[in-house]
Amino acid sequence: MLPKYKRVLLKLSGESLKAENSTEPFDPKIIEQYANDIKSITDMGVQVAVVIGAGNIYRGMNEAESGIERAHGDYMGMLATVINGMAMQAMLEKIGIFTRLQSALQMDQVAEPYIRRRAIRHLEKNRVVIFGAGTGNPYFTTDTGGSLRAIEIKADVILKGTRVDGIYTADPEKDPEAVKYETISYKECIDNNLKIMDMTAFTLCMENKLPIIVFDMNKPGNLRAVIEGQNVGTLVTQ
Ligand code: UDP
Repeated sequence: MLPKYKRVLLKLSGESLKAENSTEPFDPKIIEQYANDIKSITDMGVQVAVVIGAGNIYRGMNEAESGIERAHGDYMGMLATVINGMAMQAMLEKIGIFTRLQSALQMDQVAEPYIRRRAIRHLEKNRVVIFGAGTGNPYFTTDTGGSLRAIEIKADVILKGTRVDGIYTADPEKDPEAVKYETISYKECIDNNLKIMDMTAFTLCMENKLPIIVFDMNKPGNLRAVIEGQNVGTLVTQ
């Protein structure tokens, strides 16, 4: 089967790596499932880049909440994304996938520096490229880092893996009448105040016409279904 997308950027939240109600940052079973799902699409010849957040370890907060200056905390958050990237890298390599971790902050002993052209070369050689440390700047999110990298490497789509299976007219946990969108335009998302990503990340996608697919990454096989063009999740496009 021919994949619908040739090059994708998969954005995972840090939170998703951890089991619900657990204090441990990682659930090896979840990371293993993600690695297997990624393998199922690299096996189809899809080029895969990955960006992972850090909510399972540390998120920058305002100073009043944490006692830590915002920019300082944000750098801590960026470092935490590298730890998550290393965890994913270990699991992918364990199942035989070649990977490279590139970091927006220099840490030569564990990651290559982020070099756009080199990242593209790795992808062409079917290595999974994990981008760590977000954008390398405080006051941004990993959704923004993911959108930015996706645009830079000319990904066909950004796949936002979440725990819900798409975008709904209302919160499906609160409103039984809520209906899932199959596709939705960027403008409709803004008009209806649907928060898929923070505004910086969302605007970046919209201005660069990068489609976004929101889907449930925790259901094994779903990632492959998206790549096969099955009606999974919600597609945000022009
Ligand atoms: N962060 C940052 N700049 C970036 C990306 C991330 O400062 O370009 C910091 C920020 O503090 C953020 C934390 O890293 O709260 C973790 O990222 P994020 O909140 O996006 O993780 P997720 O919610 O996806 O787990």
